[in-house]
Amino acid sequence: MISITEAQNIVKTQDVRTKNSVRPVAEALGYCLSQPIVSSMNLPAFDNSAMDGYAVCGYEETYEVIGEVAAGDISAVSLKEGEAVRIFTGGKVPENTTAVIMQEKVAIKGHLLNVKDDVVRGKNIRVKGSEIKRDEEVFGSGQKISPATVATLSSIGLSEVNVFEKPVIRMITTGNELVSPGEPLDDGQIYESNGATLIAAAQQLGFICDEQIRVKDDFDKIKWTIGEQLGQCDVLLLSGGISVGDYDYVKRSLEENGVSELFYKVAQKPGKPLYFGRRDQAFVFALPGNPASALTCFYIYVLPLLQKLAGGVPTGLTQVNLPLAEEYTMKSDRPTYFKAALNDGKIHLLGGQSSAMLHSLALGNAMVLLDKQKLYEENEMVTTYILP
Ligand code: AMP
Ligand code: MG
Repeated sequence: MISITEAQNIVKTQDVRTKNSVRPVAEALGYCLSQPIVSSMNLPAFDNSAMDGYAVCGYEETYEVIGEVAAGDISAVSLKEGEAVRIFTGGKVPENTTAVIMQEKVAIKGHLLNVKDDVVRGKNIRVKGSEIKRDEEVFGSGQKISPATVATLSSIGLSEVNVFEKPVIRMITTGNELVSPGEPLDDGQIYESNGATLIAAAQQLGFICDEQIRVKDDFDKIKWTIGEQLGQCDVLLLSGGISVGDYDYVKRSLEENGVSELFYKVAQKPGKPLYFGRRDQAFVFALPGNPASALTCFYIYVLPLLQKLAGGVPTGLTQVNLPLAEEYTMKSDRPTYFKAALNDGKIHLLGGQSSAMLHSLALGNAMVLLDKQKLYEENEMVTTYILP
């Protein structure tokens, strides 16, 4: 059995092969750039007004207004000392402009402008190239595309970018007891939930699991289905059947499909029987069937690999240190991920911590990792993972 840190390192240090594609900027949210971006233009491209007001030339109290520039206008006006033009936000400032005066700080009488503000050179002017210079590297390769990235790429005139493709994900859920929600439930059966849970978790983080296949605890069927799916995806997720029960066939099925084990069993709660392996460029996570184990392992181990396969940095969930709202004694002999709620800057451990339960996490918003056998004091800082 290996530690959480060792297991995370094995995941994060895998050599992966990424694929490139070209995408419209407007459809590239969540992808990572596969090439650096160099700007072919200055941003802004011309000096322009940051305010609705008056562009003035020289340091006077009174100016003569000689024209008007709205956003998008091309003005051939070149100001002389003592002259001003009416200008609107984004309008190109005329040549020889000293400053733009906010319209709230002037009085107008006919063609005469009276300024009730200090005229300071450059005030309220957005200078050409002040945000981005021509030939400047704007983003490095690997930059994850956020709405602000979309804004920047669009602002420098790009409509398409080179990005890393996202991994193809497939999922196989195993278990004789599983019934689809919406169907009648017989004695001894339970509703299948891990499939929808992991599809939702992947989707929320910008990944798509495009197929979920349900298989009974039947060695031949599990083995055959794994063989079929492995050739068609980058990441294969399995749920259930990886523990030590008599009907846990997943590990042997993976071995017989030529998957090499990278680790099996991690010293953690929940999710001890987690398995990670690969066959060539296809990675396999066999997640324990208990719903909290499956989701926790997805966030802590699967997500960093997905991020890496998508050309990004394998950071996992956002991690911060926050104070515990109440003292807590950790009796467990394994480090434990707790379901938690972050409220008013403090971490509250929730009820329903069993690995079979997820209801409390649905009402919470964080997970925290507590060390084995340790007394935590009130306000002690704990490693917190913020749920997306
Ligand atoms: P296993 O890992 O197959 O031993 O399953 C551990 C526990 O998780 C058992 O109580 C299973 O019934 C439950 N379980 C397994 N797979 C699922 C699933 N897809 N959805 C909900 N619960 C599951
Ligand atoms: Mg099972």
